[in-house]
Amino acid sequence: MLDIRWVRENAERIQENWDRRGAGLSVSEVLGLDQARRDLLRETERLREERNRWSRAVGRRIGRVDGDGIEDMGNIGDAESLKLQVKSLQARLAEAEAKLEKAEREYRDAMLRLPNLVSPDTPDGRTDRDNVEVRRTGEPTAFEGFEPLDHVALGELHGLMDLPRGVKAAGSRHYYLTGAGVRLHRAVQQLALDLLERRGFRPLEVPLMASRETLVGAGFFPHGEDQTYRIADEERWLVGTAEVPLVAYHGGETMDAEELPVRLTAASLCFRNEVGSAGRDVRGLYRVHQFAKVEQVVLCENDLAAGERMLEEITANAEEILRLLELPCRVVAVCAGDMGVKTYKQFDIETWMPSRGAYGETHSSSLLLDYQARRANIRYRDAEGRLRYCYTLNNTAVASPRILIPLLENHQRPDGSIAIPAALRPYMNGLEKLEPPV
Ligand code: AMP
Repeated sequence: MLDIRWVRENAERIQENWDRRGAGLSVSEVLGLDQARRDLLRETERLREERNRWSRAVGRRIGRVDGDGIEDMGNIGDAESLKLQVKSLQARLAEAEAKLEKAEREYRDAMLRLPNLVSPDTPDGRTDRDNVEVRRTGEPTAFEGFEPLDHVALGELHGLMDLPRGVKAAGSRHYYLTGAGVRLHRAVQQLALDLLERRGFRPLEVPLMASRETLVGAGFFPHGEDQTYRIADEERWLVGTAEVPLVAYHGGETMDAEELPVRLTAASLCFRNEVGSAGRDVRGLYRVHQFAKVEQVVLCENDLAAGERMLEEITANAEEILRLLELPCRVVAVCAGDMGVKTYKQFDIETWMPSRGAYGETHSSSLLLDYQARRANIRYRDAEGRLRYCYTLNNTAVASPRILIPLLENHQRPDGSIAIPAALRPYMNGLEKLEPPV
């Protein structure tokens, strides 16, 4: 959420920003809603004050109140007509209050839907095709002397997954992992958690359901409500990412500056209904309704340099995990039109997926400034004792089963085996490779 005083004072700059996102929003419309509710607020206060004065006058007339102010009422008539006057004011006040409530609701809803600013160094553009490569690690895998299989074929060959039974049990975009597939899925998560813990992240086991307030606080509602599974007959939703409960952890709290930065991580299931992606990425494990993700969330001081530093740090953590998994990848600066609404600056990490003949997004690293903390009300007291909203950041550490796609495909060997990267072996009972069945 943006600070409305700041929006009033920076209307032009904000409009330029939103235009970069292609958000189709107008600052003047928002300022109009702000003005309308402020006018109604003034009107309501005026009517309330007037009603109170007349009430006091009635009281005085019938000898209950001994206030002053009766002389302000002009020719006030007898107690009965005073009462009528109070009644009519009461009705006008009730009407104004109802209008105010509606205007406040419209204003608040509009404010919650406003996107964040876009950093000046974010590339212009509308879709992921406009994202700009920043750096690469390794080069796309070359397979010499054999035709590589895709992860679905490899999964079947090695008994790592059962996609048809997933569809049978739960519908499209569902899957079973089986045997060593389960171990790999857990191994990458534990490797990520261990690395983050070594790097100062505090691991949490988190709730996978969240209230509306929590989802609004984390910036996923109202925008992303249609992407989210609701628990029938309850005001609770399944989370699409551990970012939601991790941000909520310090929601409504005020921290000391010395506590910052706060680094939190969680491995959680994520549930997404993937509205709008019908027909896209339908083969295999790329886009599914339920997956596991180790997430990094950081709260830091309200300072751009600190935010940028933390963005580099969480991006580097993810790159290090991919280095340990020995996977070729690249970092791209996400363009204004492809960025999440709450994000100020975003890097995606894409990992080479041979079956796609392309890099595929496996990580998303975002700096949100104080946009999220304002909604979740996460503050700290700075060195001068002032209350400030934190900056928040988040990034994937690893998401599985999507990461199994590059892991299986890049590490396949001509004899049909799949090499296990050395860093992963301790999590795989020391296994060096998956052998195809004879
Ligand atoms: P996000 O939280 O949307 O930034 O996504 C973070 C990462 O989670 C992505 O880069 C993917 O690796 C993974 N992911 C997101 N959505 C899905 C999905 N529907 N199926 C599988 N993995 C996903």
